[in-house]
This record gives sequence, structure tokens and C-alpha cells, in this order.
Amino acid sequence: MRYLIGARDYSIMKPPKATSESVSRSMRSNRSSGTKPELALAKLLRKRLYRNGLPGNPDFIYPKKKLAVFVHGCFWHRCPRCKFPVPKSNTEYWRDKFSRNVKRDALAVKSLRKMGWRSMVVWEHDVKKDPRKAAKKIRSTGSEPPIA
Ligand SMILES: [Zn+2]
Repeated sequence: MRYLIGARDYSIMKPPKATSESVSRSMRSNRSSGTKPELALAKLLRKRLYRNGLPGNPDFIYPKKKLAVFVHGCFWHRCPRCKFPVPKSNTEYWRDKFSRNVKRDALAVKSLRKMGWRSMVVWEHDVKKDPRKAAKKIRSTGSEPPIA
């Protein structure tokens, strides 16, 4: 079975040209390499980014705990805290795109659960605000218990 869930397939559909500064800023913040929240976390966690094999392509996995960690960009994944407005131009496109993203996220969690995996979502705004705290939270949830 092939899963096409997650952040990696955004390139399939090219978004329309951003017409407002706030939209282009939101989009840019998600692309700029090096400052990507998942990369910052990978460094802090000393963990490789997970690339494929599980539904939704989680960013990190803790196999022994069967924990999948998703680092979600607030704009693309419709963060309930940040509540980015739907862009005023190409509104239909964006609504459709966002609803597909959200559905895909939910489906990934569901598929993982069926496989006995737990999912943890870490939002971009939390990573940006306090990367160490976010990393700590992930580590404490996913770290393997010490061998007695
Ligand atoms: Zn957010």
C-alpha cells in the first residue's frame, strides 16, 4: 500500500501565486530551509528525520514506543491556535487544499492507530516559541524506558 499523506507531497500541486504579503509570508515561513521547525527539532533531539513507510510520513518515530511525531506547519495544517485566515484570493483553491490536508492528517492518525501506533502533533508555533521545550516534550513521550 502506498501512502500519499503528509508534508512531502505539497509539490504535486503548485499553489497559486501569493497575492498578499501575509499569505506569501505564511507560505515562505514553511519553506525556508534551515529554519524549518522539524529540522530544528531533529538537531535538538539528535534524531534523524523519518522519511517514509508509515501513514502520513511522520517527522520522527520512536519504534519501541510505537510513537509517531508530526511537526505541523500552522498555516498548512490549520493550527487551531494560530487560526491563519484563508487567503482572500483563490479562496476556493485554498479551502479545498486545507480541507484535504486536514482530512489527510486525520486519516494518518487513524491508520496509525489501527497499526497500534500513537500519534503526537507538535505545532510549528510551539517549536518556534521554545524549541527546547518542544523537544523535551517529544523526548519524554517517546523515550524508551531505561533498561533496569
Ligand atoms: Zn499554530
